[in-house]
Amino acid sequence: MPYDFDLFVIGAGSGGVRAARFAAGYGAKVAVAESRYLGGTCVNVGCVPKKLLVYGAHLAETFEQAQGFGWSSEQPSFDWPTLINNKNREIQRLNGIYRNLLVNSGVELLEGHARLLDKHSVEVNGQRYSAANILIATGGWPQVPDIPGKELAITSNEAFFLKTLPKRVLVVGGGYIAVEFASIFHGLGAQTSLLYRGELFLRGFDSAVRQHLKDELTRKGLDLQFNCDITRIERQEDGSLLATLQNGRQLPADCVFYATGRRPMLDNLGLENTAVELDERGFIKVDEHYVSSEPSILALGDVIGRVQLTPVALAEGMAVARRLFRPQEYRKVDYNLIPTAVFSLPNIATVGLSEEQARAAGHVVKVFESRFRPMQLSLTECQERTLMKLVVDAENDRVLGCHMVGPDSGEIIQGLAVALKAGATKQIFDETLGIHPTAAEEFVTMR
Ligand code: FAD
Ligand code: NDP
Repeated sequence: MPYDFDLFVIGAGSGGVRAARFAAGYGAKVAVAESRYLGGTCVNVGCVPKKLLVYGAHLAETFEQAQGFGWSSEQPSFDWPTLINNKNREIQRLNGIYRNLLVNSGVELLEGHARLLDKHSVEVNGQRYSAANILIATGGWPQVPDIPGKELAITSNEAFFLKTLPKRVLVVGGGYIAVEFASIFHGLGAQTSLLYRGELFLRGFDSAVRQHLKDELTRKGLDLQFNCDITRIERQEDGSLLATLQNGRQLPADCVFYATGRRPMLDNLGLENTAVELDERGFIKVDEHYVSSEPSILALGDVIGRVQLTPVALAEGMAVARRLFRPQEYRKVDYNLIPTAVFSLPNIATVGLSEEQARAAGHVVKVFESRFRPMQLSLTECQERTLMKLVVDAENDRVLGCHMVGPDSGEIIQGLAVALKAGATKQIFDETLGIHPTAAEEFVTMR
C-alpha cells in the first residue's frame, strides 16, 4: 500500500468518529487524530452537557409545580458544583465509550493536534502519516465580536466549567445557544438578561414561535432586551463587570456570556500546504460529496458551515464512509426537512417550513394553530401555554411545516418529521387518531 492509511480523519467529534468507525467497519485502514476531547463539541461542550443543565434548570419549575399535586418539602436549594461535577463525571464516561467505539472498530487513535503537510500527509506529535484520503472534521469554535473588554466575556466553552453560578448574567445573542443558556441561567436562579441586536430573537424560526417564546420567557421573569448591543465591557473595582450598551446605558453583571455564532476551527491546520479553498464565509468549500478543492481532502460537519447540528454531521460522516468504501450503499444526505429543537424552557421544536418561508416559496398556505395550557400544569399556578402550529399547502393539502413551543416538543416533533418525510397531507393528520390524553394529540385534532 503506497499510503499508511486509506483514510485519515482529523477530529474525533460527531462527524469524524462516525466516518472513521464506518470506514473501518467497511475494511478500510483508518486513523483519527483528536487534539482535545473524544466525542467533540457535542459530547464535551455542546448538546449533551447543555441538555443536562437544561434538565437541572427545569427541575426548579417542577419543584414549584409539585405543590399543586399535594407535595410539600422545605424550600429546595441548588448547588452548582454538584451539578457540574456530576455532569463532568457523565461526560468522562461518554469519552470512554467513544474511545472504545473507535478502538474496537479497528481505528488507530492518535491523541494530538493534526496538521496537514501536503495533500496526502498529516503530522501529529512530530510523526508524519500518509493517507489516500484525508477528512477534515475539526468542527467550530465560538466567535465573539471585537469590542473593548471582549476578553472579560465567556462563551459556552467556559460556561460548562464555571466554579460558581454567577448571580447576574448578561447573555448576548439571539440564536440557539443564547436562548438555551438564558433559560439555564435563569432557571437555576441567576438574574438573567438576554441582549439581542435585532427586533426579535431566533431569526429563521416561524414568527409565531418566536413571539410565543418571547411571551413565555418574559412571563417567567427573564429580562429580554432587543435592538440592544454591548459596545464595551469593563472590570469594576469590586471584581464585577460593567457592560456599556450602544445607547450609553450601563448594565452591571457578574458574567457576560457571548453566543454570537461559531467560526470554523482551522487553527494551525496547515491548509496553506494544500489547495483546499474556503468559501466567502471562511468555511471549507466542498462539493456535494464533501470533496474539497483538493481531491484527496474531504471535509464535513461544522467546518463546512452548512447545517451545524450533530445528526447532520453524523449523516455526512456516514455518507463519506460509504462513498469511499461501500459505494453500492452510498446515498447523498437529504437536507430537506431537518427537524430541530431549541432546548429553551419551554422547548421549541420544528420541522419543515415556517409560515413566512412557505409564503416566500410561493405556496398558498393554510395555517392551523392551537394554544393551550397543558394538562400537566392544570393543578399548578404555572400559566405557561403551549403553541402548536401546522403550515399546510392549500393546493395539495401537504403539510409543509410543524412547529411547537412547549414541554417535550423535541420528542413530539421527531415523530412528525417522519410523517412529513413520507409526504403526509393534512387529511392524513386528521385521519390519525390521537393518544389521549396527551399534548401531542393536538397535532391530529386541529381543524
Ligand atoms: P465537532 O463535534 O466540533 O468535533 C471536532 C473535533 O475536532 C473536536 O473534538 C476538536 O477538538 C477536534 N479538532 C479540531 N482541530 C483539530 C486538529 N487540528 N487536530 C486534531 N483534532 C482537532 N447540535 C444538535 O444537534 N443538538 C444540540 O442540542 C446541540 N447543542 C449544542 C450546544 C452547544 C453549546 C454547541 C456549541 C453546539 C451544539 N450543537 C447541537 C451543535 C453540535 O455540537 C455540532 O453541530 C457538532 O458537534 C458538529 O460536529 P463536527 O464533527 O463537525 O465537529
Ligand atoms: P447562531 O448562528 O444560532 O446565532 C448567533 C446569534 O448571534 C444570532 O442571533 C446573531 O444575530 C447573533 N450575532 C452574530 N454576530 C453578532 C454580533 N457581532 N453582535 C451581536 N450579535 C451577533 O449561533 P449560536 O452560537 O447560537 O449556535 C451555533 C450553532 O450551533 C447553531 O446555529 C446551531 O446550528 C448549533 N446549535 C444547535 C443547538 C440545538 O440543536 N439545540 C443548540 C446550540 C447550538 P442575527 O440573527 O441578527 O444574525
